[in-house]
Amino acid sequence: MNSDISSGQIRKAFLKIKKEMNILYMKLEHLEEENIKLNNKIDEDLKNKDNNLTTPSTKSNNQQQLFIANTLSGKVHLPHCPYAKKIAIQNKEEFEDIKQALRQKYIKCSCISAI
Ligand SMILES: [Zn+2]
Repeated sequence: MNSDISSGQIRKAFLKIKKEMNILYMKLEHLEEENIKLNNKIDEDLKNKDNNLTTPSTKSNNQQQLFIANTLSGKVHLPHCPYAKKIAIQNKEEFEDIKQALRQKYIKCSCISAI
């Protein structure tokens, strides 16, 4: 049985396997590179998200919920509301209690009624 296969054939088979393995290794290396690139991208995305999150959360760490009123529009907002961020400093009035703002005839923005 063994005599059916020559050592040359065996060597050929080995070389073929070696070649295929090299191709596989190259593919693996390429995949690993892509993986590293993707991981870096994810890390960057996460960092960006963290930055976006830490800005408002540091504000809410001041324990009390603040409400930002616009003296021009007569509306009161939550600090993270995009409208609240647009209010000019001179038109801004801060309340620690929504009832306080409502007593002064301020109207709740949809950002508050959504709670
Ligand atoms: Zn609002």
